[in-house]
Amino acid sequence: MPISPPASGRRGERLAVVDPATGLVFDEAPDQRPEELDALVDRAHRAWLGWRLDPVARTGALREAADAVEAAGDDLARLLTREQGKPLAESYAEVARTAARLRYFAGMAPRTRRIDDGRPVDSDIRWRSLGPVAAIVPWNFPLQLAAAKFAPALAAGNTMVLKPSPYTPLATRLLGSVLATALPKDVLTVVTGREPLGARLASHPGVRHVTFTGSVPTGRAVARGAAASLARVTLELGGNDAAVLLDDVDVHAIADKLFWAAFRNCGQVCMAVKRVYAPARIHSEVVEALAQRAKTVVVGSGLEPDSQLGPVNNVPQLARVERCASQALADGARAAAGGHRLDLPGHFYAPTILTDVPPESPVVTEEQFGPVLPVLPYRSLDEAVEAANGTGFGLGGSVWGTDLDRAEAVADRLDCGTAWINHHAELSLAQPFSGVRNSGVGVAGGPWGFYGNLRPFVVHRPREERR
Ligand code: NAD
Repeated sequence: MPISPPASGRRGERLAVVDPATGLVFDEAPDQRPEELDALVDRAHRAWLGWRLDPVARTGALREAADAVEAAGDDLARLLTREQGKPLAESYAEVARTAARLRYFAGMAPRTRRIDDGRPVDSDIRWRSLGPVAAIVPWNFPLQLAAAKFAPALAAGNTMVLKPSPYTPLATRLLGSVLATALPKDVLTVVTGREPLGARLASHPGVRHVTFTGSVPTGRAVARGAAASLARVTLELGGNDAAVLLDDVDVHAIADKLFWAAFRNCGQVCMAVKRVYAPARIHSEVVEALAQRAKTVVVGSGLEPDSQLGPVNNVPQLARVERCASQALADGARAAAGGHRLDLPGHFYAPTILTDVPPESPVVTEEQFGPVLPVLPYRSLDEAVEAANGTGFGLGGSVWGTDLDRAEAVADRLDCGTAWINHHAELSLAQPFSGVRNSGVGVAGGPWGFYGNLRPFVVHRPREERR
């Protein structure tokens, strides 16, 4: 197994970028210094003074930006696969969702409202943009998660400084230059570099909203940093979503969908299925159905047309996946499929289905964020619901069965932001997206995400003075 160089190793003032399918450096990006942020945030502030004024021009520019993203789709998708690892078809889907988000928010306008509470006063609620927004995103969906931040923020009249992960800076830099063909200067600035670049951005006094997607510990650090300037904070953090199968589930019918809900993007999805709870009576049938898929799925470089599952993005993440699986195996679990790295160059781990996993094993209690899925038996539904709700996370969850009313009643008991029935991780652009407990603070998505980038401004005017 070749030893991968550090994904974000400093080479002078450049960040080395690794292709996770080979484990080799293939390009580099600027390793920007935290001190550079002062000038960039200042320019974002000055750009905001103009950008906030004209909603019609904003709508036009954002629609043009969506067209530009689509026109650059081939280049964006290939670069995304190269640095992130996902199969090319998934990269194309990510680019398409980036453009769709821009279009969805482009025409959105806040609703002004007058309060009529019997006083002889007109109280008008209007909405104002905030100023420069700092966005910090992880490496699993660099473009899509960036768009989930810049599309509502810019549509609301803010400007943004966006920092991708040092593991995936390139597609985001390309996206930034594509968007620059449609947006006024300094409305969106992409910065790349290693820590403490993100920490400095999150705590920058010129930033009015920090919107972060990433892990729980970093989210906490970001919140602490933003407290210095009392900037608004939105945190979209980790998940440990459970899929609860009911005893009337048709295992054969749902197995494909359930498998891909756990393994899409090589399991590196915040709201992937990370634990399966199956009634004890059908547990071995579920394990067998999932293991059969894990053994036959085509694993390889995302650039290969046949690949269905790519590599894990980076070396520390691969180590985390390996640790979670090995610990479970050492604790008495059995790998019905996988359970080891693949003998390929790059960061490949065999799609793994674990059974006989002790419930206190880290692969159950923590977020493995990779191609490893524990399947646990349950005896009563109460027990399953309690286990599903029993980690510190609360992002999503799903219930799978034939009787949809019964499934919905169980879904209603899941303590999370989004629950699906016979699905998982499918989001509407128009829905609020949020997590409870360690999974986050604030709401993204739909009008909620849009208003999260605005502040109310109320004008009271005596009614008798109106002509
Ligand atoms: P991470 O927290 O390590 O990094 C996220 C981003 O924060 C990166 O850009 C990183 O460079 C930056 N960063 C690191 N230290 C920082 C600091 N001290 N201050 C400011 N920024 C800092 O997360 P990751 O490993 O890149 O991503 C995986 C995590 O993201 C998982 O936990 C996953 O569940 C979560 N995630 C959540 C969602 C969601 O919507 N809830 C979506 C995708 C991923």
